Amino acid sequence: MIRKIIIPVLTVIVCFSAKAQTINTNENPKLVVGIVVDQMRYDYLTRFYNKFGEDGFKRMVNEGFNCKNHHFNYIPTKTGPGHASVFTGTTPKYHGIIANDWYDKYEKKMVYCAEDDSVQSVGTESSDGQMSPRRMQTTTFADENRLFTQNLGKTIGISIKDRGAILPAGHTANAAYWFRGKSEGKFISSTYYMNELPNWVTSFNKSKTVKSYLKDWNTLQNIETYTESGADLNEFEGGFRGKETPTFPYDLKKLSKVNGGFDILKGTPYGNSLVIDFAIAALKGEALGTDNITDVLTVSFSSTDYVGHNFGVNSKEVEDTYIRLDKDLERFFKVLDAEVGKGEYTVFLTADHGAVDVPSYLRKMQIPAGYLNNKETKAKFAAFLMDTFGVDNLIENISNDQIFLNHEAVKATNKTLTEVEAIIVDELINYKNVYKVYAASTIHNSGFNSGMEQLLQKGYSQKRSGDVLIIANPNYISYSKTGSTHGSGFKYDTHVPLLLFGKGIKHGETLQKTVIPDIAPTISALLGISFPNGTTGEPLEFVLD
Ligand SMILES: [Zn+2]
Repeated sequence: MIRKIIIPVLTVIVCFSAKAQTINTNENPKLVVGIVVDQMRYDYLTRFYNKFGEDGFKRMVNEGFNCKNHHFNYIPTKTGPGHASVFTGTTPKYHGIIANDWYDKYEKKMVYCAEDDSVQSVGTESSDGQMSPRRMQTTTFADENRLFTQNLGKTIGISIKDRGAILPAGHTANAAYWFRGKSEGKFISSTYYMNELPNWVTSFNKSKTVKSYLKDWNTLQNIETYTESGADLNEFEGGFRGKETPTFPYDLKKLSKVNGGFDILKGTPYGNSLVIDFAIAALKGEALGTDNITDVLTVSFSSTDYVGHNFGVNSKEVEDTYIRLDKDLERFFKVLDAEVGKGEYTVFLTADHGAVDVPSYLRKMQIPAGYLNNKETKAKFAAFLMDTFGVDNLIENISNDQIFLNHEAVKATNKTLTEVEAIIVDELINYKNVYKVYAASTIHNSGFNSGMEQLLQKGYSQKRSGDVLIIANPNYISYSKTGSTHGSGFKYDTHVPLLLFGKGIKHGETLQKTVIPDIAPTISALLGISFPNGTTGEPLEFVLD
């Protein structure tokens, strides 16, 4: 009699604990939110700190952990590679996203990191939706969470840029959504994820939210108090078509007519507000973080990058964009507190790369800087190749500071590929504003433990990268004389924030060096799941409770 009573009780206990072990435990966050701020230099956090409120960036610093010496550890520091590296815990050498666009040696054409013509657009008649993560070769922590939870933990990726939504969310995402501007102004996706947009997305797109941002962009606070940036009118800024000076206020409704319709919002802080609006709709529409099985929401703010490219690191427009982003973060965290619960979710915030101060401004400050004359260099180089090798088709492509040689033409020179590479390296190092040049054979035949050589190696894919790799002088860019860009291995491009807060995260700060690929294994360790399959970073034990 006694046994008959005990057995069912035991069975219940065993079933309960088996579920708890295989799916999840109450100890894990209900939701992980991975935030990437496109082009956010570390010093934006410190430069604008006194302008921030208590509940945005400062809340992350005051409640969470601040890694103050956090860096990209590879070249090139660009958006596609950046987003892939944050979420895969490795570098282009392993995840294969070597640039935004690169020359594919096998397809013999330029390819885009997220393009996929085998899938169709969802939510637009345009081809802007023909995107997927298929070119990324390793998993993200969100993928590992899907595998671990038997697909019960959801993953949603959101950004203005397609690559900013797709690469973080990974291969197994339930959905990634990105913004289609022009005359449409809505969030779209691809058949990689779904055949039609869910109702909450359709309702969002039908609402007046997007249109409501076609209004004046003026500074949020009195412009006189923006003492952390240069004069509103200066020679280092671009600006919008249809407005004579790059000065506040900007009438976005009027300017949208000559700046690509809804595309103008991408280049204003309202693009970030829109992403938060949509992330909040996703949180509710998908009921994220409402049970004990961890969900993942990735949010990438692209507008910070567009504003930086247009107006430059030191502009009033950049300052206002960060002051407004701080307000948007505050709004987002309050919704997370209400919907998921304070202390029930974990957030990290980082960037996909930094940015250089406008070189023409740096020159005025007597700091070595400038612009590369690619046309002149290419002509000189072509003449050298003809003189030296007697063939005129040795170069197949030059892109992302890499030279792709025509391997058939190399054979016709009666020299080995390694010999040809070495001759080219010896020639190019003498060119104006060239800092370093490496042969691919040097990169994949030796191991570098430090310096630019190591950064280059970690960004180098044997199958996808070129035969000769060039690094320009610090502060030298191929870009317009106004606005900022990025891509190098110098500190202005590699040093970015890493802030973590919420469940499982300690309060503190460190000046110990941490690198981008450490983020994904840290989150994996927090969740007790497998590391992404190409992980090269290490979990940051000191940030975990
Ligand atoms: Zn950029």
